[in-house]
Amino acid sequence: MSGRTIRAVAVAFLLLLPCVTAAARPPQNGKKPGKNAATVQDYYSRNFLLHTDLPKAEANDLLARLETVLRLVSRYWNYPSQGIIECCVVSDLDNWPPELQAKIEPDGLAKIREGAGVCLGTTRVVGKYAVGKARVYAVADHLGDKGVPLHEAVHAYCDQAFGHTGPQWYAEGMAEIGHYWVNGVKGVNTLPHVIKYLRHCKPRKLETLIVNDEKRGGKWEDYCWWWSLCFFLDNNTNYSQQFRALGRHILAGQKVTFQDVFGSQTKELDFEFRFTLKHLNQGLRVDLCSWDWKRKFVSRIPPGQRMSALVHADRGWQPSSLTLTAGVTYEYRAKDVWSAGKDARSVDADGAADGRGRLVGVVMKDYKLSEEFELGKSGSFTALTDGDLYLRCRVPWTELSGNSGKMTVWLRRKPAEAKE
Ligand SMILES: [Zn+2]
Repeated sequence: MSGRTIRAVAVAFLLLLPCVTAAARPPQNGKKPGKNAATVQDYYSRNFLLHTDLPKAEANDLLARLETVLRLVSRYWNYPSQGIIECCVVSDLDNWPPELQAKIEPDGLAKIREGAGVCLGTTRVVGKYAVGKARVYAVADHLGDKGVPLHEAVHAYCDQAFGHTGPQWYAEGMAEIGHYWVNGVKGVNTLPHVIKYLRHCKPRKLETLIVNDEKRGGKWEDYCWWWSLCFFLDNNTNYSQQFRALGRHILAGQKVTFQDVFGSQTKELDFEFRFTLKHLNQGLRVDLCSWDWKRKFVSRIPPGQRMSALVHADRGWQPSSLTLTAGVTYEYRAKDVWSAGKDARSVDADGAADGRGRLVGVVMKDYKLSEEFELGKSGSFTALTDGDLYLRCRVPWTELSGNSGKMTVWLRRKPAEAKE
């Protein structure tokens, strides 16, 4: 169906459906005002009709954020928004007189009372296409979290543009990305309790996260997991393109699943997802931590020869191309300098006095990592285990993007052992 036809049908829905809070107006005289007393007003923007008791400046700020998230998801899914999205956003329910509360759908009112939100959709099949009309109900702010209307707006966009939001893990995971979205921020940005939960809870297996049922909702713990999986897939450069294509296929109604797309990469994906969760924190750049799985490793360096690896300061673990053999001693030497932090002075691979900027290594075997160990400008080390050697410039994982520069690291077997 062309966008024009969908839009025409969407307009028809607007005319047909009861406008839940269209009668929103200031409370009647004599009504008890809420603790943040304000009147309920309507606000309009290009794609939204907002009924809210937020002060005018905050209402306009919310509309601007809603429009920006809508622009972002329209571009991401490559399909324009269809029809006006009607939102009822409550700052304080006491500001809403009974006759206005009565116009809020019961499921919407229940979610608002919980301090949450909901997107109620109506889908109608027109010819061979499903066309939706969505109504958003949300609290403006729950314990400092102002993202609930944004989460529901992502659902509403999908409902009205595609007639559905896809399987549960995808629908809620992507809506949570909208929930926490901040313009220009590439790193992890979520609520502290989400990070605390994901870092310390019992890990869930990847296959248990992929719920292919077409439904919405879940426990808050489920939302944490679905957000983390979608955020990871959307940002890790090994999976982001396929993930975006998967989403477009899903929303277009094609029968494509996560397993169809990523089934052959499960081990790599699972390893990187666990790695992301282990280091999850505000500002973590998942894209900069993406693993290089294409690099070939060799275990034998011919006597008298050495091999080199290029290590960028602003990336996570990077392949050396050398597979270590347990008990063998290797020599290394790092050339050049790098900067471990914004405006930090350049240092060699020994790093600063506090250890920041030092060249460090880790060994991967069977998708498991050894403990990180220190290298430096030059020296030798004896491998404690077999496995592939990875290198990086040591800074806290959330601070990679502030680094700059790169080094060439030379590696060889210690000559005495090469003669064996
Ligand atoms: Zn949701």
